[in-house]
Amino acid sequence: MSGDSGTPTNFIRQIIDDDLASGKHATIHTRFPPEPNGYLHIGHAKSIVLNFGIAADYPGSCNLRFDDTNPAKEEEEFVEAIKDDVRWLGYDWAELRFASDYFEQLYDYAVELIRSGKAFICDLDADQVREYRGTLTEPGRPSPNRERSVDENLDLFTRMRAGEFPDGSRTLRAKIDMASPNINMRDPTLYRIRHGLIHHQTGDEWCIYPMYDYTHPISDAIEGITHSLCTLEFEDHRPLYDWVLDNITIACHPRQIEFSRLNLEYTVMSKRRLTQLVQERRVSGWDDPRMPTIAGLRRRGYTPESIRSFCDAIGVTKSEGTVEMGMLENSIRGHLDGIAPRRMAVLDPLKVVITNYPQDRVEALTADNHPKDAAMGSREIVLTREVFIDRADFREEANKKYKRLVLGGEVRLRNAYVIRCDEAVKDAAGEIVELRCTYDPDTLGQNPEGRKVRGVIHWVSATLAKRVEVRLYDRLFRTAHPGRGGSDFLDDLNPDSLKVVGNVVIEPALAEAMPGQRFQFEREGYFCVDPVDSQPGAPVFNRVVSLRDSWGKIAED
Ligand code: ATP
Ligand code: MG
Repeated sequence: MSGDSGTPTNFIRQIIDDDLASGKHATIHTRFPPEPNGYLHIGHAKSIVLNFGIAADYPGSCNLRFDDTNPAKEEEEFVEAIKDDVRWLGYDWAELRFASDYFEQLYDYAVELIRSGKAFICDLDADQVREYRGTLTEPGRPSPNRERSVDENLDLFTRMRAGEFPDGSRTLRAKIDMASPNINMRDPTLYRIRHGLIHHQTGDEWCIYPMYDYTHPISDAIEGITHSLCTLEFEDHRPLYDWVLDNITIACHPRQIEFSRLNLEYTVMSKRRLTQLVQERRVSGWDDPRMPTIAGLRRRGYTPESIRSFCDAIGVTKSEGTVEMGMLENSIRGHLDGIAPRRMAVLDPLKVVITNYPQDRVEALTADNHPKDAAMGSREIVLTREVFIDRADFREEANKKYKRLVLGGEVRLRNAYVIRCDEAVKDAAGEIVELRCTYDPDTLGQNPEGRKVRGVIHWVSATLAKRVEVRLYDRLFRTAHPGRGGSDFLDDLNPDSLKVVGNVVIEPALAEAMPGQRFQFEREGYFCVDPVDSQPGAPVFNRVVSLRDSWGKIAED
């Protein structure tokens, strides 16, 4: 039952509980049915976590089914990417299916509908079909071919399959009700002709392809799906889903249940728009770390756990809304806070010479890997006479609230000594190029007597530091609802969504970090080694997310 997993319940799980309690079903079968026409995004994750989560928590199973009835837009690359993403999210399917596995059965069921007088071949073209369909306020008009004989329909359907008619010249339509208030029920198209396409599974075997609304219920029923979960825009299609299953000879009749889509601020989620971003090279690819795709989030440094906990947090309901990006960011922040080892990296290095520190000394100091988890152990960091601190951690003058280094003031170098700034050396243009400081040798692990230091700042040995590239990401769009009000969503792209910082200095051992490893750079944020552009010994770091509280907290300890 749903109770033991810690997953919050929802109205769909309640329906399932009832169906198990009443004996309607003994086991639960769900499916996740992506169309392989793009990469999965965080919205799909909501559906994956729902469908696979139910299968995991109940006695049941979940299939991965590719809804591949439109070969014009579908590709093998997407099939493989989707499989990778589902596995990465932590799920495995009971069976891998393709709607195209059922093309022959779908054809046979169409013949059955024709034989029973419930489907006919229509000669109207697409524009005429639209015109005959009527509007929300006016009923439609029947196709002139609606009363064709069964024999003629059978003959024409056979010849459609055999390739005798050109694209768009004929369709197979269900014969339902041209006056239905639900336009989906006004003799919807079941099959159309598409020549010259190579289907990634069936090649050139077919030149007629079944429509989604016809394919989906039958695929669900063939697989013995008990609960067919889909997003709210299919609510109006449910009568057609049921009509198809009620009018063919098939034992299983899954229950379609709709829930609201996930919408997320500051991004777009439709595959059409995501495809456009990729094709027009607005981003580096489907896995660009700014993309809301699973592949992008993974490359950025998100964990599967954080995405699953985000999906649990947003819940499953029927009410439409837009979720704040901050919720997604909080889920990864919370997870990485617990698991990411701490390291020091200086993004905007300013050299500090500790004038009273011996020239050749290399002092090994100990730093905890995690302030709250002793089990994560400690590491060695090295202090030398010259170190780097961040340029933002120094001001010539500042009031008491400034918890960093000022001329004549003291701060602690994290995990090391207290230093005092004696002089800021400037170049001809007046820019500070170096700080000259002195250290107090009695302050390792203890505070100085009788005086207060302003705060604690991070640093890296200048002699031993390695230099790397860091990529700072911001939201891909500068408005919460890109394209709202009919404007071009591309106009809302954030021109500053990627800032590449070269010459970031890091603790030397970090140069050996492996692709996908995640760290907290103290006082800066969480970072992940980019799996695509990193080289052995030369990692590139992606900022996953900034810290909630960038430096105030550490300054207190
Ligand atoms: P798009 O309209 O962007 O092409 P889609 O819904 O057509 O998206 P599919 O590949 O058909 O994409 O979706 C597979 C499954 O994922 C469907 O069951 C669909 O309802 C679900 N899904 C897609 N987008 C979202 C979303 N934003 N929130 C929740 N579920 C979604
Ligand atoms: Mg779709």
